[in-house]
Amino acid sequence: LMQLALPLGVIGFVYSEVRQGLANLEHMFDLLDMDPEVVDAADARPLAIDRGAISFRDVQFAYDPARPILKGISFDIPAGHTVAVVGPSGAGKSTLSRLLYRFYDIQDGAITIDGQDVRSVTQTSLRAAIGMVPQDTVLFNDTIGYNIRYGRIDASQAEVEQAAQIAQVDQFIKTLPDGYKSMVGERGLKLSGGEKQRVAIARTILKAPPILILDEATSALDTRTEQDIQAALDEVSKNRTTLVIAHRLSTVIHADEIIVLKGGTIAERGTHSDLLAQNGLYASMWNRQLEAARAEEQLKEVRARA
Ligand code: ADP
Ligand code: MG
Repeated sequence: LMQLALPLGVIGFVYSEVRQGLANLEHMFDLLDMDPEVVDAADARPLAIDRGAISFRDVQFAYDPARPILKGISFDIPAGHTVAVVGPSGAGKSTLSRLLYRFYDIQDGAITIDGQDVRSVTQTSLRAAIGMVPQDTVLFNDTIGYNIRYGRIDASQAEVEQAAQIAQVDQFIKTLPDGYKSMVGERGLKLSGGEKQRVAIARTILKAPPILILDEATSALDTRTEQDIQAALDEVSKNRTTLVIAHRLSTVIHADEIIVLKGGTIAERGTHSDLLAQNGLYASMWNRQLEAARAEEQLKEVRARA
């Protein structure tokens, strides 16, 4: 049904990718949220990845020309570093991640990886270098094992299961009647948001790419699971260039730089302590989350006593 609703251009695009054996799951995942006009340049070369230094230079972007979303964004993620983007919903955070993955082309400015414009390299090589845990994961109509293995198609079953263990989805899979061979998606098992998120995390752990994009990667998980998986993600992002988009600020305290995006512009930037000292938007977001956490703690105590 979904396929019928897809524009012909997208089908043609997917078909050609599949035909070439280049289908990339993450690519398909956001299929409905990408621009079919993104094509490889005639002289596109494979991305020559060194250590994955990322640069956004005066990036301007709009989905609809009448409504600018990013209004001249510049920042760098030095190789192996972590930059966090926070800010109100609708600020353009997920858009940044989609542009780095080149789901869309920007209108002005440049996005480069190790000095190469993302528009000058092949999409296949670009996406092979990046592991993305999107905000909303849509899984393939295939087995759950295959959905993880897509991270690295030649991985052994033991490696798939190890990644699933780190992402804490292994036990859940083992309770399914067909285990790793259980079908998921429209024609199979319906997974919860948190389960899908853990499948996407397992896939990314298996892929172990030089560049990581984590877009609210643990937002659908309960606090306890989130803490455990956050620890696993921190481990994965060590020495990898990482763009992390976070809702819960406690997960980005240690980022090398935090960018506060608001209405498509950078409102504030700095380390966690810099931003607290600025006593601006970040500080007020932080205080609000701290108060919410305290209230939750108090509620737990009251409940425990009752
Ligand atoms: P954030 O992740 O910060 O919540 P997004 O980057 O998802 O924000 O979205 C920024 C703005 O762009 C929002 O106003 C959103 O409605 C709009 N937007 C997002 N995706 C699309 C799309 N595919 N087409 C049109 N507008 C979009
Ligand atoms: Mg978002």
